[in-house]
Amino acid sequence: MTKIIDGKEFAQKIRNQVKEDSDRLLQNHKVQPCLAVVLVGENPASKVYVGAKTKMAAECNIITKDFKMEDTTDQATVLKVIDELNNDPHVHGILVQLPLPKQIDERAVIDAIDVKKDVDGFHAINAGRLSIGGEMLKQAFIPCTPLGSLLLLKDTLPNLSGLNAVVVGRSNIVGKPMSQLLIQESCTVTIVHSRTKNIEALCAQADIIVAGVGRPEMIKSDWIKKDAVIIDVGINRIPTIKSDGSEGTKIVGDVDYQDVFEKSSAITPVPGGVGPMTIACLLRNTVTSAYRHSGQADPRGTFDIK
Ligand code: NDP
Repeated sequence: MTKIIDGKEFAQKIRNQVKEDSDRLLQNHKVQPCLAVVLVGENPASKVYVGAKTKMAAECNIITKDFKMEDTTDQATVLKVIDELNNDPHVHGILVQLPLPKQIDERAVIDAIDVKKDVDGFHAINAGRLSIGGEMLKQAFIPCTPLGSLLLLKDTLPNLSGLNAVVVGRSNIVGKPMSQLLIQESCTVTIVHSRTKNIEALCAQADIIVAGVGRPEMIKSDWIKKDAVIIDVGINRIPTIKSDGSEGTKIVGDVDYQDVFEKSSAITPVPGGVGPMTIACLLRNTVTSAYRHSGQADPRGTFDIK
């Protein structure tokens, strides 16, 4: 029988741990973790995401400071805010909500964040630490969506060693860091993307598929091997007809869930799979950063969810 990998429940478990760790730091060291969120412009999806982060941070006793700026803000202004946050001893994590408006160079802004406060894990140094792996991982912040995806995967398949994994997508925030994490776990990793030839045949050899493409329901049952484990990172809004006959929209993943369900051994639903894990891992990284800034050891190991 196919297992539905419940990211909502798992993310709640992580947030409970984050709250415990946050409370302990406050009680023992009088430090309350603080996350600064920089939002430039009016992207509706970003605003929803930032709102959800703020609410869940508060539930974990993490302070959030929002810095909302106009769509027309120039790069120098954003960099000045980042510099102030880097130098603010009360701020432990800095998150710049992407995408940024086109007049701003995203890479310049991300790399201006103090690497020790880069709780999104997108800074070039954190990406390098993830790539090198081993002991380096202990100083790194790992990007939240791939980390959440890996935690879900390891909860379903505790030993990933030697398994064939195909990662669909090669972005810096999903595909590449996900591939690095799977290599660390001794998977044999194939990364496929928009220029890949015979993508279906490559996917059909995979014990694990992680899809981060941004193409609604692209992956079908004839692309996958029987009993493959499917982690669907995709979040796509598509038109639908509601039960009352009116037009609306719904969220679907990059995998055709209904089509693939029977053939897979385990699968993340969308919504309710990887999505909730992203914010939970962001909060986890923020509390870890607060421990590090207070001179304390990390409250938990990188992949420790006990
Ligand atoms: P990007 O657009 O940055 O990257 C998409 C990747 O998919 C690219 O590498 C692209 O290839 C590849 N791709 C596009 N079309 C095809 C195709 N037809 N066949 C094979 N590969 C293709 O997206 P992101 O990585 O930012 O996001 C991916 C998905 O994950 C989206 O649905 C997004 O909404 C979701 N997401 C979910 C998060 C969560 O919290 N659950 C967080 C972040 C993202 P190429 O490089 O050649 O262009």
